[in-house]
Amino acid sequence: MKKLICITCPRGCHLEIDEETLDVKGNACPRGKEYGINEITNPKRTITSTVKIVGAEINRLPVKTDKPIAKSLMFDVMKELDKICVSHPITRGTVIISNVLGSDVNIIACRDL
Ligand code: SF4
Repeated sequence: MKKLICITCPRGCHLEIDEETLDVKGNACPRGKEYGINEITNPKRTITSTVKIVGAEINRLPVKTDKPIAKSLMFDVMKELDKICVSHPITRGTVIISNVLGSDVNIIACRDL
C-alpha cells in the first residue's frame, strides 16, 4: 500500500493506493483516483530550471516544460538544458527545446529578456 497526498487541489486528500490492484482510497473526487494511479504507473512533473543566455542583463534565462514530463526523464532533461545557450532577445513562451528527448514536451522561456 502506497500512501500519497493528492496535490491536484488545495484540499490535499490522503490517498492509499494498492500497487497491485491500483485501488485508490481516501480520494474525495475522481481526480484523486486518476492522480494516484498516475503516480504509481507513470509519475510526471513540470520541470523548472534555467539555461545560459548571452547578450542580456542577466546570464540565466528561466525555463520550464510546457506540460508535465515523465519523472524518469528529469535528470536527462537537466543534462540537455546544461548544453543550451540562447541569445538575447527572447520572448516569454519561446520554445527553447522542441520535443525534448522525444517526449512530446517542449522547453519554453518563462520571461521576456
Ligand atoms: S482527491 Fe480530489 S478533492 Fe482530494 S485533493 Fe485530489 S483533487 Fe482535491
